[in-house]
Amino acid sequence: MRKIGIFSIRKIWLLTICVIAIIVVGINITAKIVAGATPKPQYTIVIDAGHGGRDDGCSGASGAKESEINLAIAKRVESILQRFGFGVVMVRQDDNGLYDDNVDNYKDSDMEHRRQIIENAKPDMVVSIHQNSYSDSSVYGAQAFWQEGNENSEIFAKAIQTQLQKHLGTPKTEANYGDYYILKCVDAPSAIVECGYLTNVEEEQQLVTTEYQQKVAYAIVCGVLKYFGYVGNGVGV
Ligand SMILES: [Zn+2]
Repeated sequence: MRKIGIFSIRKIWLLTICVIAIIVVGINITAKIVAGATPKPQYTIVIDAGHGGRDDGCSGASGAKESEINLAIAKRVESILQRFGFGVVMVRQDDNGLYDDNVDNYKDSDMEHRRQIIENAKPDMVVSIHQNSYSDSSVYGAQAFWQEGNENSEIFAKAIQTQLQKHLGTPKTEANYGDYYILKCVDAPSAIVECGYLTNVEEEQQLVTTEYQQKVAYAIVCGVLKYFGYVGNGVGV
């Protein structure tokens, strides 16, 4: 191969083709943006990372904070959903809570702001991410919850539960229902995911690792895909 300096002719050709490809793709994207043709995501999903600010949530056997784990998993869910083309609205993006300062009841203030964000997003789905705790430290496993009486939320929570069992090897616990403020903000299918028990030493050690957080996030997204009927698109649902 003929050499020009340190480059071969082949390398120069490859470089030229790459540059042309980048320019063509760039023009194409620009044209779409100019023409307003960028597709709007078909579905918008709100991800609510529970707690934050002065509210750490529950804490682990060795001191892990629920609020931090919730946010870490929420961001991973956001990232995967965006890769699948979903629109995502995050209720919180950092460690701060959503309450106003100098209020009598910061918890009420926090929940009210969460409700406003969820309502304004007009979402097709809501996922609230939490970690669990229990007096018996041998209890472990992830569990999804829905608002009693909301059939679509029940279907969604059960879809998530199946995926949590499949991807995390969580015990054969059933999804469960209850009465939850955050699941009543909109009629869209909504679920709380308690990703695991921080009071169980082994599960706490898993939940603080990025690898396990990614597995949890993937399981949740698989539940979302199942609910919307994206079955067998090579995503291992
Ligand atoms: Zn919580």
